[in-house]
Amino acid sequence: MNVSYPPEVESFRAEVRTVLGTELPPDWPGLGAIAARQEAEGFAAQWRQALHRRGLLGITWPPEYGGRGLSRLHQVVLVEELARAGLPYGEHTDLFGIKMLGSTLLRWGTPEQKAWFLPRILSGADRWCQGFSEPDAGSDLASLTTRATLAGADWVIDGQKIWTSVAHRANWIFLLARTDPRARGHQGISFLLCPLDQPGIQIRPIRQLTGDSDFNEVFFTGARTRADLVIAAPGEGWQVAMTLLGHERGEEAATNPILFRAELDRLFALAAERGQDRDPLIRQRLAWCYARVEIMRYLGYRILTQVQNGTELGAAASVAKLYWSEYHIAATELALDIQGLAGLVPAGRGPLRAVRTDDPGAPNSSGSWLGAFLNARAGTIYAGTSEVQRNILAETVLGLPKEKRQ
Ligand SMILES: Cc1cc2nc3c(=O)[nH]c(=O)nc-3n(C[C@H](O)[C@H](O)[C@H](O)COP(=O)(O)OP(=O)(O)OC[C@H]3O[C@@H](n4cnc5c(N)ncnc54)[C@H](O)[C@@H]3O)c2cc1C
Repeated sequence: MNVSYPPEVESFRAEVRTVLGTELPPDWPGLGAIAARQEAEGFAAQWRQALHRRGLLGITWPPEYGGRGLSRLHQVVLVEELARAGLPYGEHTDLFGIKMLGSTLLRWGTPEQKAWFLPRILSGADRWCQGFSEPDAGSDLASLTTRATLAGADWVIDGQKIWTSVAHRANWIFLLARTDPRARGHQGISFLLCPLDQPGIQIRPIRQLTGDSDFNEVFFTGARTRADLVIAAPGEGWQVAMTLLGHERGEEAATNPILFRAELDRLFALAAERGQDRDPLIRQRLAWCYARVEIMRYLGYRILTQVQNGTELGAAASVAKLYWSEYHIAATELALDIQGLAGLVPAGRGPLRAVRTDDPGAPNSSGSWLGAFLNARAGTIYAGTSEVQRNILAETVLGLPKEKRQ
């Protein structure tokens, strides 16, 4: 395990700190401290444009597509500095546009697809969402039934996607559709890019436990997209999808411990504010949280060493996912227990995003903690459920027999 970064990466960190020093007010407390939701969202949108103006979006992409050709470790340091300053990396749709689709296009896209889409992702002209899951295809994604047929110059798409995060903020969707109806399993699936603003597509919000609607159902009824907007050859979509899912991991290993540590410090302060920090059982649970976050930090270092060496993350990604998501359920339960009945009456704004912790700098309000508590339940589901991660670990690390597939 190597816990230090090379000098060129450290000098990039200095550049990022200079940008933060110039762009932010002197005593910037973090996005969480902006009390009104609309104001906080407005700041996040402006901040995204500042990152773009300063050339800090898509820094690992080649310069001809608007990037800087830097390493993944530079990207990790950038996100690390932003997390420390209580700032997001881009806006809601950037997870899907920059991190997932952009990196996948670089691997699989044609020169024309890359030249058209990549700069538009960075400028924010195209905002993307991910249409993989369906009502009967989640963990078992290959059982998807949305289909697409070539009709002249277009693909015609029919079917339904569900849990499509931020579809209501996006103008494009990348989706998996079955293009060969005779093929089974991973075969005959294509990876398509499709504009959302058209009569054949209907987006219906799903109301969550928090009362917010971050994800949606997306219905395709004779929806159309151009024949050339398929990534890789028709029928090769599964390989493309696997590349894309691999990009979800990696830099989180560095940023999760920072976000969870900032949240834990708020949890310590919450216990003190509510006079619970002398209770031996609460202290025991706080100590458990502290130990977990420290272990998360070292798991992160191990993954970063793999990133630095250019090795595949493999089982380490499943360990990290399982670890932070299960931890977060317990930590946010403790926050509610500390608050007692007051914790059930949300006061103050909830978290801006449905994933991970509230932003650093957030107040110890019941609205913030209740939102984090409810969102934490989803953490063990998205990006691969806990059961699926345990299956991967059982098979690849423990060498247990493979589960029977249907
Ligand atoms: C907040 C959030 C955001 C999301 N955003 C998106 C998005 O933007 N785009 C998108 O395409 N999808 C999105 N998803 C969907 C997500 O990918 C799926 O929910 C996830 O893959 C699980 O699929 P499922 O919900 O169909 O559950 P299922 O796969 O039906 O699983 C139900 C239960 O059975 C268990 N299970 C399933 N298979 C096995 C097995 N082989 N062995 C043991 N147990 C098993 C699961 O662990 C789970 O507990 C999002 C989900 C959430 C919660």
